[in-house]
Amino acid sequence: MKLCVIKGDGIGHEVVPAAIRVLRQVLPELEVHYAPAGWEQFEKSGSALPAATVERAREAKAVLFGACSSPSYPVAGYSSPIVKLRRLLETYANLRPTRYLPVPTARAGVDLVVVRENTEGLYIGDERTADAGDTGTATKRITRYASERIAQTAFRLAISEDRRRVTIVHKGNVMPQTDGLFRRVAYEVSRAYPDIETDELLVDTAAYWMVKDPTRFDVVLTPNLYGDILSDMAAAWGGGLGLAPALNLGEEVAIAEPVHGSAPDIAGQGIANPTAVVLSASMLLRHHWNQPASADRIDAAVHAALSEGDYTADILGTNGMSTEEFTDIICRHLG
Ligand code: ATP
Repeated sequence: MKLCVIKGDGIGHEVVPAAIRVLRQVLPELEVHYAPAGWEQFEKSGSALPAATVERAREAKAVLFGACSSPSYPVAGYSSPIVKLRRLLETYANLRPTRYLPVPTARAGVDLVVVRENTEGLYIGDERTADAGDTGTATKRITRYASERIAQTAFRLAISEDRRRVTIVHKGNVMPQTDGLFRRVAYEVSRAYPDIETDELLVDTAAYWMVKDPTRFDVVLTPNLYGDILSDMAAAWGGGLGLAPALNLGEEVAIAEPVHGSAPDIAGQGIANPTAVVLSASMLLRHHWNQPASADRIDAAVHAALSEGDYTADILGTNGMSTEEFTDIICRHLG
């Protein structure tokens, strides 16, 4: 079994080794191949995502990605390597679960998964300016093809995880040609799944409910941008960004990647929470490598470690454990 590992930027360098330690404990035969990408790589070489990295990822068919820092101002020649990698490797589904974890910052009863379309919407990179930079325009693309396959993913996931409801989130009242198409196709797909309840919410109403009562949600099916935002909101109910895992899934390749970014405010201090990336690695085992028993082992070890009540500083705000100390506890519970 091969894994292409991209640490990326910032805390990626600290949390990814934790996940590799955990993975090696459940999969001693794992072959790990490191590859560079990210802002630091761009500054060094002029390329944020070298062709050799894409090749290595394609060849391994499984990627563990730490995090990358992307500047919020335009930089000639730079574009987000993870957005590009997801597109190049056709990982069209982004699964972002939020389940209650035994920490004081998590909300009891939350158990939802955001299924986010990963290849189109406003993320296709078609942006231009006019009026000497005073007008910016971006293209939003929604296709039947991509909407159908992401809807199939959401309903299949609902079945496989014994979930009861899929909520389609959109803004079809304002964007009938794009979000309206997404909604229509999702309802068409839903007809093949009569045992799953299907409902819908406008994205603003969904945001309201995500804050007011996240236990209302089960599977949340959404176009790209709304999924990005709603899953970060949901992560707050799971105990925080340091605990929120994600998996980018395609037919051939999967990329495990925590919801959080490179956290430049704490990078280099060895205090980042490794849980999100460890749980992302567990999702790779469950959904891509078809090893649910190993994934269950990791999830149980993370629960047991958190149940001990000592955390990294993001959970309680003060005097936390180091990344390495908390990883030691997870590894101890793996036995
Ligand atoms: P980027 O520009 O890479 O997106 P960011 O700081 O804007 O970085 P995040 O990296 O998602 O966005 O971080 C948001 C906040 O959450 C920061 O204060 C960060 O320190 C905290 N955070 C994120 N991930 C972790 C983690 N694994 N452990 C501890 N704190 C974290």
